Amino acid sequence: MSFKELGLSDPILRSLEDLKHSEPSEIQKQAIPIVLSGKNLMAAAQTGTGKTGSFVLPMIELLQNQAKPYRKHVHALVLTPTRELAAQVRENVYTYGKFTSITSAAIFGGAKIFPQKSKLKKGLDILVATPGRLLDLHNQKSVKLNQIQILVLDEADHMLDMGFIHDIKKIISLTPPNRQNLLFSATFSPEIKKLAQSLGTDLVEIAADSPNSTVSAIKQIVYKVDKNQKSSLLSHLIHSEQWPQALVFSRTKHGSEKIAKKLNAADIQTATIHGDKTQGARTRALREFKEKDVRVLVATDVAARGIDISNLPYVVNFDMPTYPNDYIHRIGRTGRAGKEGTAISFLSIDEQKFLRGIEELIDSKIPQKTEEGFKPSDKPENSSGSRRPKGKKFGFQKRQAAKKGKADFKSTTGSKKKPSQNKKKGSKAKTRWKKGKGT
Ligand code: AMP
Repeated sequence: MSFKELGLSDPILRSLEDLKHSEPSEIQKQAIPIVLSGKNLMAAAQTGTGKTGSFVLPMIELLQNQAKPYRKHVHALVLTPTRELAAQVRENVYTYGKFTSITSAAIFGGAKIFPQKSKLKKGLDILVATPGRLLDLHNQKSVKLNQIQILVLDEADHMLDMGFIHDIKKIISLTPPNRQNLLFSATFSPEIKKLAQSLGTDLVEIAADSPNSTVSAIKQIVYKVDKNQKSSLLSHLIHSEQWPQALVFSRTKHGSEKIAKKLNAADIQTATIHGDKTQGARTRALREFKEKDVRVLVATDVAARGIDISNLPYVVNFDMPTYPNDYIHRIGRTGRAGKEGTAISFLSIDEQKFLRGIEELIDSKIPQKTEEGFKPSDKPENSSGSRRPKGKKFGFQKRQAAKKGKADFKSTTGSKKKPSQNKKKGSKAKTRWKKGKGT
């Protein structure tokens, strides 16, 4: 089936030709006719499958021949969890719609508000926004949402993970009830389903890839390694396997800076992208990575949402993702548009539980290996004698309580909360003890 047969008109077909998108992807085949028919849609779609085109293309088709919106009004609103994704979706609107008269803009926090206000002044066909900044601008009466015809919640699972549910509900309440709703999510949790159902009736549900499964073109490997060896293993693999580029995920902002420092010291040009960086620095890092001026980009989950880099060969989970869904999002950065990619995860012994959660979610085992010279010691990094006094003491008290015939240990402390309070005290004591030992 061609894009033409899906019902897209010449100006859009021309831009697709320019982009060399010769055939619609699976999600595009399924979603475009539904969006064009005006129905509400809930789609399970992973990043890298052409998800953005599946709503942007028919939206442009529907809006291109309509009267232009009034001042400050918007006809279609796309909500995204992050600034990067907002910028990315807007770029797609611009390129797919370049032979049409569609007007669009992206607004998000961390960037100056005044230029965003002036973009909204004349009204826009399509606005792409993060929830917080959109509400700010609405409160300042710079945007009107009561003529919205199409509302898109992109990466809805991540918006919920990031705690945007109240903002989303508020925004929905500002839009007219007869709007068309499109919800996209890599994974379908009960919360997502509830949100989708609250949006409206005649909801059509589609799944281009089975939800909660990883993109099949991606080769996945888990390297077992000690935590303190991860940086060395990473630079070893980059050097020895001559990786052209890699996107590396770190759990924390601080961690990402540490990784970058070590890689730069090992002569591997590395940039970072995380929430502590200004929007300008984030955009610059992304541009340098896209233009191949830097070899490695280290990112936190939040910052990495929406990064679309074609031909990205390697994704590395330096830390195992705590939430299994993040694994799917992270590795979806490679193996895009049918291209091959490799996703490597570094697993230290204390991260086994995260791997179990991921394998349960994707319903398959990821092959594991160890690299020569980086064999793990199979002991958690902090498993010194320092842990034992606390455990022993607690066990000892418990045994003593049992001996005294007090089966319920809690009752010996007088309050149900006490054991955890004891624990806390124990950990404080442990810190002091450790400090004392170290000096
Ligand atoms: P997305 O899943 O929307 O993030 O898209 C992933 C990548 O696939 C982007 O670089 C798109 O430009 C590209 N893409 C989207 N649709 C197609 C298509 N029909 N043919 C080839 N590439 C596509």
